Amino acid sequence: MAGTMLSIGECMVELMQAEGGLLRKSYAGDTFNAAYYAHLFLPIDWSVAYCSAVGTDTVSDEMLAFMAEKGIDTAAVRKIKGRTPGLYMIHLKDGERSFSYWRSASAARLLADDPEHLRRAIEGADLILFSGITLAILAPEAVETLLAELRRAKAAGKRVVFDPNIRPRLWDDAERMRQTLTDGARAASLVMPSFDDEVTHFGDGSIKATIERYKALGVADVVVKDGEKGVTLAFEGSEASHVPATPVERVVDTTSAGDSFNGAFLSRLVTGDTPSESAAFAARIAAGVIGHHGALVDKNKLVD
Ligand code: ADP
Repeated sequence: MAGTMLSIGECMVELMQAEGGLLRKSYAGDTFNAAYYAHLFLPIDWSVAYCSAVGTDTVSDEMLAFMAEKGIDTAAVRKIKGRTPGLYMIHLKDGERSFSYWRSASAARLLADDPEHLRRAIEGADLILFSGITLAILAPEAVETLLAELRRAKAAGKRVVFDPNIRPRLWDDAERMRQTLTDGARAASLVMPSFDDEVTHFGDGSIKATIERYKALGVADVVVKDGEKGVTLAFEGSEASHVPATPVERVVDTTSAGDSFNGAFLSRLVTGDTPSESAAFAARIAAGVIGHHGALVDKNKLVD
């Protein structure tokens, strides 16, 4: 059955050290990465759209062209004169990666400032994904606008998926962070947290505690990701179950492990696989992504 997935958030310009002091340019961001992987594995009659905001400058045009080249529909990306995308640089020193960010005035921060635009994009979608990073970059009024639209979508029976993706550096206040992430989860029907983040920032003592905290907010389904220990699925109407990770011989680059898991998982779930089948598939894809460099790994490196 045909459908549309809408992923909402920020995609940034990525600069990575290359040979001889050169920098290699790409584009990435959690919700964009997940959209990329969902598109790789969804059937041809599903479209995947990205909802964000860019500027009208050259790098914005290049980013849109990159998205389109990857098969992502960019009609829901707002273009705002005078703004530009955020940027980050990956530094490699002795095999360790560190990051510098220039994103405080990024265009994506305005993605929810036009409620009509947002409503049209969300109304046209069957499956909607957003994250804690999406919420972290928005002004408080814009968070409210976005969550109001997502609550409407959830009430209309759409699958609304939230990955808390907790990045304390993006928030000026820990209490506001927890409150906003909790509000985000309330607007979702499926939450896909990473267990270590939930322990650090919400003090959960077990995966069961994470699941119960989200269920108590009215979230029907929860998928708790726990790195190499696999995932725990808690779907409405069935017992919680565990799906192991796929062993990785050599961890090359863990960037986008969680994002690829989300995209691959959703691509199977919405086309009729069970949650366990979807998670087993997503674990295989995430393992492949970890075995290669970069956030966006080519499909032929992930499946035969
Ligand atoms: P995030 O990147 O969002 O923190 P996780 O670290 O939990 O998410 O990883 C997401 C998924 O990637 C896991 O559920 C698992 O399938 C896979 N994964 C992550 N780390 C490893 C690893 N070391 N070995 C095998 N699979 C892994």
